[in-house]
Amino acid sequence: MSQNRPPAVGIDLGTTYSVVACLDDVNRPQTLVNGEGDKLTPSAVLFDGTDTVVGKEAVKAVATDAERVALCAKLELGSRMYDKVMGGRQYPPEAIEAWVLNKIRLDSQRQIGPFEKVVITVPAYFDETRRKATQDAGYMAGFDVMDIINEPTAAAVAFGYQRGMLNPDSRKQESKKVLVYDLGGGTFDVTVMDITGRDFVALATDGDVHLGGRDWDQRMVDYVAEEFVRQHGIDPREDPNTSGRLWRDCEDAKRTLSARSKASVACDYHGRTVRVEVSREKFDEITRDLLDRTAFTTRQTLQAAGLEWGQLERILLVGGSTRMPAVRQMLQELSGKEPDHSVSPDEAVAHGAALHAGLLIDESLGKPPRFRIQNVNSHSLGVVATDAATSRLRNVILIPRNSPLPVSAKRIFRTQKENQRSILVRVVEGESASPEDCSPIGKCSIKPLPPDLPVMTPIEVAFRYEVNGRLTVVVSVAGKEIAHEFQRENSLTQEQLDSWREYISGVPRYSPETE
Ligand code: AMP
Repeated sequence: MSQNRPPAVGIDLGTTYSVVACLDDVNRPQTLVNGEGDKLTPSAVLFDGTDTVVGKEAVKAVATDAERVALCAKLELGSRMYDKVMGGRQYPPEAIEAWVLNKIRLDSQRQIGPFEKVVITVPAYFDETRRKATQDAGYMAGFDVMDIINEPTAAAVAFGYQRGMLNPDSRKQESKKVLVYDLGGGTFDVTVMDITGRDFVALATDGDVHLGGRDWDQRMVDYVAEEFVRQHGIDPREDPNTSGRLWRDCEDAKRTLSARSKASVACDYHGRTVRVEVSREKFDEITRDLLDRTAFTTRQTLQAAGLEWGQLERILLVGGSTRMPAVRQMLQELSGKEPDHSVSPDEAVAHGAALHAGLLIDESLGKPPRFRIQNVNSHSLGVVATDAATSRLRNVILIPRNSPLPVSAKRIFRTQKENQRSILVRVVEGESASPEDCSPIGKCSIKPLPPDLPVMTPIEVAFRYEVNGRLTVVVSVAGKEIAHEFQRENSLTQEQLDSWREYISGVPRYSPETE
């Protein structure tokens, strides 16, 4: 890396594996290896007494100590607590993610020296609450998170880099429409991007935060376990350690099926054994509906971008699960095009994040940007209001999904009585008109309002949705901003974040004066 600039580090914090990359002296993204010498760090944490062990060893412990291992915490971001009690304690999912990030920080430091500024990626389909939780996980791990960017966008940037599109002398100005199909361990994302020269513009995005390789594993686990039940009348899934081993072996068999036409899985439980042979055809059959869900979302996203298959320049495959032959075949059948696997499905996202980190660091040093990213929001943002006609609560959408970011929207609320001293605004994310079907983002408690306001005084509430998909709320009365509290759903307080940061990373809390 260059001497006069801090390291430009990007982290792909994955459901099952995480990857970190850093720009080298000539701005090339390089994947850093972890303490064990691997490029991929399993996003798993073992709670071993007062110690925590992260990565490969934590995964190994699933076979013997399943009850003390946290897996796939990314899927629970946005909840107050990770659902398993480990070592007699429950943890917020962002704290578990912070332990994963802390290992990455310590392992990377050995190679590139101390650093704190990073870019972390999230699925494009992550809502605001999950983005905030990811940013908080970075903070608790001792980082200064410069930005949160979408995984498919990062992959597209890595692709652009690989194609030489980020070179200052790049003359390729024609617009290329690229569909990024990203199927990881726990999440699925699809994004249509328009790449023109060095501009990366997202046109539409959609996905599923609960669909990924783990679901394919689950089908194989169930297939083998049901055969066990059929033969022996007992269910190996009832014992956490047997279940842990079965998961591990089924994931392994799934990978085998990407290279060979059959694989076999053995399962031992209570002194009994079964060995089940699974053919690729059988595996495709028992997982067909999962693949169909991704096909449906892919078609819808293309439609939302206003495009036909023929207008796409290419389909970019990202995420470890795109190695499954059925994924490639399905996309080929849908689009009539051979999907592009020229970027590394495991590393592209981290590489794109490192390139973005380099861009932000350069910008802070007053250098011109090498490329530009424009994102869209994946969920509509609204407020809960009372419908005057029916007196029922409904979600009034202020910022529709797929709006280019950053975007601002305003709504006027009026005081209902003389000298009203507070107003409560509930912010939700989702497409439904009914607030119960949307995710609550938080409450904006505007108090105290200035004294002696007459009834029906307009209070302007303005939302600004940032490029990173994070929300800021500005409230003003008669053009004057008023301070207010935005109480987020299931979010840790600054005090809690500071104390987790000290506990997990040992890095003192961040305050601007320490910059
Ligand atoms: P990612 O989150 O992008 O690292 O993807 C991890 C997922 O990819 C996990 O569910 C892995 O089981 C899956 N995966 C990795 N390699 C293969 C493979 N060769 N065949 C099928 N799935 C794979």
